[in-house]
Amino acid sequence: MEAISDYESLEEVVEYVYGKGITVTDRRRVAGGDINDAYYLKLSDKSAVFLKENSAGNMGFFAAEMQGLEALARTKTIGVPKAHAYGRYKNRSFLLMEFLEQGRPVKNSFEQFGHSLAAMHSASVDFLSLSGKYGFTADNYIGAGEQINTPKDSWISFFRDCRIMPQLERAKGKMPDPDVKKIEHLAEHLGKYLIEPKQPSLLHGDLWSGNFVTGPDGKAWLIDPAVYVGCAEADIAMTELFGGFSGAFYSAYKESGLLDPGYEERRDLYNLYHMLNHFNLFGGMYLYSVERIIERY
Ligand code: ADP
Repeated sequence: MEAISDYESLEEVVEYVYGKGITVTDRRRVAGGDINDAYYLKLSDKSAVFLKENSAGNMGFFAAEMQGLEALARTKTIGVPKAHAYGRYKNRSFLLMEFLEQGRPVKNSFEQFGHSLAAMHSASVDFLSLSGKYGFTADNYIGAGEQINTPKDSWISFFRDCRIMPQLERAKGKMPDPDVKKIEHLAEHLGKYLIEPKQPSLLHGDLWSGNFVTGPDGKAWLIDPAVYVGCAEADIAMTELFGGFSGAFYSAYKESGLLDPGYEERRDLYNLYHMLNHFNLFGGMYLYSVERIIERY
């Protein structure tokens, strides 16, 4: 969908997106986001929508988020809020989407989450018509960092050229030289550690516990994606980066057979990408996490 940019006020945008005569009857701030301003909007037709806003120059983030949400939704495997529109009005950029009323988690919500994520990772990605097996139709963002998604036929080459190397380039000058050399060497020999997956999978890309919410059906819904087609193991590795999800999630996911033997040895290497990104965005304190990973390989 094209950006909406012809309007001067949110009221005009709402009328354009939701229909003539539709107005905002209530607007409340939603806490929790660390990048954008977020709001609950009640509309005059009684529907509820979720609005994210930022400065106009950041519209690219919302374009990418909408594209990501739509791609995940196309797999029809897991709850994803329906994205309605993005664009800018005056000096603000915005994204409008379905508002998720938070439900009470169903009893086996983590087990169901594991199964739905496995289904998402098993879904066909033909609808993207990529010119290579791995990558995405456009570059996007991982947090506030740019994420390169140039399609490639080899997962290992993709992980080197579009994940590790761009982050390493950004880190140069800030990271001690011996670490840079080690990572360069590791990147050249990724084939020693990584394997080509049995199938390409659409990934959420930033799957930590802040990026799923319990939806009105009591099940896990995905938000804030950094999607691309890659190896499913990379998504699971990310879930383990900050403490991990519940055991029921992993047992259910493993039934899919998408984790190949030796996954545990590859896990930290996938997370090196995220730790480099954190180092580039937040600085020195993540150097230790990067070093802890590279000394293992
Ligand atoms: P940011 O982009 O700033 O990180 P988030 O996407 O994390 O913002 O959203 C901020 C807060 O709003 C979070 O607490 C999240 O749980 C909640 N949230 C995100 N998407 C929706 C939605 N579609 N409906 C209702 N609440 C949402």
